[in-house]
Amino acid sequence: MEAGKSKQQVVDFSKRAFERKLFAGTSGNLSVYDREKDRIYITPSSVRYETMQPADVMVIDLAGKVLEGPHKPSSEWRLHTAVYAVYPQIGALVHTHSPFATAFAVNREEIPATLIEMFFFLGGSIPCAPYACPGTAEVGAYAVPLLEDKGGCLLANHGVLAVGKDMEQAYIRAEYIEDAAKIYSIAKLVGTPAILSALEE
Ligand SMILES: [Zn+2]
Repeated sequence: MEAGKSKQQVVDFSKRAFERKLFAGTSGNLSVYDREKDRIYITPSSVRYETMQPADVMVIDLAGKVLEGPHKPSSEWRLHTAVYAVYPQIGALVHTHSPFATAFAVNREEIPATLIEMFFFLGGSIPCAPYACPGTAEVGAYAVPLLEDKGGCLLANHGVLAVGKDMEQAYIRAEYIEDAAKIYSIAKLVGTPAILSALEE
């Protein structure tokens, strides 16, 4: 993967997440991993998404060493390296504080599987990892076991983690997690949602 393309992809998807309200302020972060070269292209800490340029994107390795870039890497870089270290099939990660899904994280509850696309895109329900102080290694340590057969998970009192083989997949999963949480919340307001235990015929 070419470095310029990876940096551009980080910027493009960050702006998209910001415009679609998956990111607010400078919260949220995302990365793509070039496993062959051990280079993680990750959003910088505290840089506005409106003005972010490819030159702002930070490059770190799996050990967290800064290889390139004028800023600090996202304060959640340990979460990114923890996931990449365990799952060779994961090549991108999107972490958001998207409001409906994060409401479930605040309640420390899973998002139940109520939509068929949750089985196709997310592996069913979205579980919630135990609470860990943001920025610490525990955030990744608690989230990693939940990702074995899921496209993402919640981080208690914090937000959403979506993973994928590439950025397109990780990003669309972040959108589907928010969508599932939103629809379930509305369904609960107007009635009693039926939960799917598996993909029913
Ligand atoms: Zn966060």
